[in-house]
Amino acid sequence: MNKDLIELDGADGGGQILRSALSLSMITGKALRIVNIRGRRSRPGLLRQHLTAVRAAAEVCGATVQGDELGARSLTFRPGAVRGGDYRFAIGSAGSAVLVLQTLLPALLFADGPSNLAITGGTHNPLAPPADFIERSWLPLLRRMGATVDFALLRHGFMPAGGGELRVRVAPGELRPLHLPEAGTVLSRSARALLAAIPGHVGDRELEKVKRHQDWRAASVQVVRLPEDQGPGNALLLEIACEQLTLAFCAFGQPGVSAERVASQALRQADDWRRSGTSVEEHLADQLLLPLALAGGGSFTTPVASDHLLSNRTVIEAFLPVRIAFEARHAGGQHIRITPA
Ligand code: ATP
Repeated sequence: MNKDLIELDGADGGGQILRSALSLSMITGKALRIVNIRGRRSRPGLLRQHLTAVRAAAEVCGATVQGDELGARSLTFRPGAVRGGDYRFAIGSAGSAVLVLQTLLPALLFADGPSNLAITGGTHNPLAPPADFIERSWLPLLRRMGATVDFALLRHGFMPAGGGELRVRVAPGELRPLHLPEAGTVLSRSARALLAAIPGHVGDRELEKVKRHQDWRAASVQVVRLPEDQGPGNALLLEIACEQLTLAFCAFGQPGVSAERVASQALRQADDWRRSGTSVEEHLADQLLLPLALAGGGSFTTPVASDHLLSNRTVIEAFLPVRIAFEARHAGGQHIRITPA
């Protein structure tokens, strides 16, 4: 077996297997061969968002790539050195710009100089981290680990129109381990209803429903009216600031789904996390794993061993000399520990 070629089967997961593998290939310099990309998804293979991530990763490290085509189910990626610089990437659809950013950012921490990124596409997509989640929840933890990253959301992009834009500045630097056994005391709760070309009563009703929920009576709430040409789009963002970290939850307005139902969806996620008594909610958990592994250590507790968490562990352990252990807690949920192998 060639130690400098990592072979992965993407059948059991989504685009995250590909994105994490690209980040790690760039960082370690090990070539990647991945087959069955998004194998069991209804539209398998590379969608626009994934293809943009592949091409962006290739540009940033001067990789040689075979299979970078829409719909491709296998790919070979031979990386070169990661180079800082000014980069601009366009997804050309409402595919998530945030997920393209998450592919590049870990690698740019290992570049030979600072980078400025402009990425256009979706910034508020169901089934991807909203830009606000990155800004309020994920990035503050990376900064605590030592990363120097400035983030700006220039324009919102909702499904199906897209057209949003992120600007990010990354300076290279080492990551330090982070341990988050508990979230700590809740300091504040806040809710924002984003509306772009959507009637104002939708946001009012979402926030009214939030304010009627027991935990959220004292929350600060705000309707944010965005320019009409950034829509149509509606997202309800809930934030719980705790001593150790901020948790962010999101639900999206959709035709035929009442504003109250959208609020219930976001509140349910927040309730599930609170009842679990763990530090890190489900989505943040799978997105923290790679930075912690790059730092060589860390730990946190989380409500479930999600498919994303499990598949990300497989990818990370294939590239890096770390061990990622899951241990069921007596009180429920999982304790995750990342240690050098
Ligand atoms: P597919 O599943 O179709 O391959 P994909 O490429 O978009 O799609 P996934 O592998 O499903 O990717 O990864 C989606 C990522 O988005 C995961 O890291 C997941 O935690 C994150 N995510 C999804 N919904 C949210 C949310 N509401 N808040 C924060 N993160 C989210």
